[in-house]
Amino acid sequence: MQNKMIYADNAATTHLDQEALEAMLPFLKNQYGNPSSVYAFGKQAKRTIEESRESIAQCIGARPEEIIFTSGGTESDNWALNGGLPKDGGRFVTSVIEHPAILQTADSLVTRRGTIVDYCQVNENGVVRLDEIDALLNKGQVDLCSVMLANNEIGSIQPIEQIAAFCHQYGVLCHTDAVQGVGHIPINVRDLSVDMLSASAHKFNGPRGIGFLYVKNGVMLSPLIYGGGQEKGRRSGTENTASIVGMAVALKNNVEKLEVHQKILVKLEQQLKEKIKYLISDVRFNGDVENKLPGLISVSFKNIRAESLLHLLDLRGICVSAGSACHAGSDKLSHVVEAIQIPLEYQKGTIRISLCADNSEEDIYRIAEQIAWAIKKIKRIKRI
Ligand code: PLP
Repeated sequence: MQNKMIYADNAATTHLDQEALEAMLPFLKNQYGNPSSVYAFGKQAKRTIEESRESIAQCIGARPEEIIFTSGGTESDNWALNGGLPKDGGRFVTSVIEHPAILQTADSLVTRRGTIVDYCQVNENGVVRLDEIDALLNKGQVDLCSVMLANNEIGSIQPIEQIAAFCHQYGVLCHTDAVQGVGHIPINVRDLSVDMLSASAHKFNGPRGIGFLYVKNGVMLSPLIYGGGQEKGRRSGTENTASIVGMAVALKNNVEKLEVHQKILVKLEQQLKEKIKYLISDVRFNGDVENKLPGLISVSFKNIRAESLLHLLDLRGICVSAGSACHAGSDKLSHVVEAIQIPLEYQKGTIRISLCADNSEEDIYRIAEQIAWAIKKIKRIKRI
């Protein structure tokens, strides 16, 4: 039996870009100067950080001073909400399919500050209902709105430009969690017209534990982390020079190859869906068909438990996840699966396969064949 690992969980995390690794190494070895130090050794690190900031800004159509480094998507989301909402609570509009980094932060703001939160529903394709979000934003006194650019479980891309237009019309600050989108689909913050945008390097072949928050010039955001005043006092803590450099190189490389990768992924996705449909009956694909992240497939199997399926696939060296990786190990039904109202008999059998451009056609066939094998096995055991 072949046991070569096939990694198809790229929405959870990605492999580190080789060039990014090489760019990082000097800063993990000899060039360890503190960027805040006044001597040349420190200043060299500072210069490199500023070059990285410029490169990242260029990749998303921002200005360098609008990019602030954080420890990743979770911190960026926490900061946008904690900093974007008033200290005495305020009113917040978001969607029911956001990542826990938004939903849990919103819950904590309700408890800590008494923030009022309104949740916008989504349609059966997992796309926010524009008429509903318009109505919620038009209620008056809304301070902040946050809707994700692309959903991490089903890949549906959200109409952020229209949402941002509503926000501007009603004088509401607009944030988007673009963690799954940056480096995968074309992003220009000026076209999106958002005030804030979260990103995380490990989703686009950069290192884990580093990310950034785009904060449009003129937007006042109180800090989440206080200390030595780095990042012009907006985010304290000694900068992670190596990771910042790695993130910049990985993003530039991904953006440069974006179109080529998209074409490969669309083809691989199509092949995998066809093969799954050919081998397995009682299957349904979730999320928007047209406007979606290429290569991310959410698929549900009738009367199957995703945990059993994942376990058997793992034994055959195939890495995929149930709903989102953040729910791994939990028996609770994913809030996204609930929100898109998948028929009951399919809900628990939902898995996410997220491909990368390095996956081969051979990988695709093996994934489909092993899913078919695992489902047969589960059904046989159930009959015993
Ligand atoms: N937002 C979305 C949409 C995500 O998919 C994730 C990670 O899965 C995060 C936020 C959290 O990012 P990080 O892992 O960098 O904290």
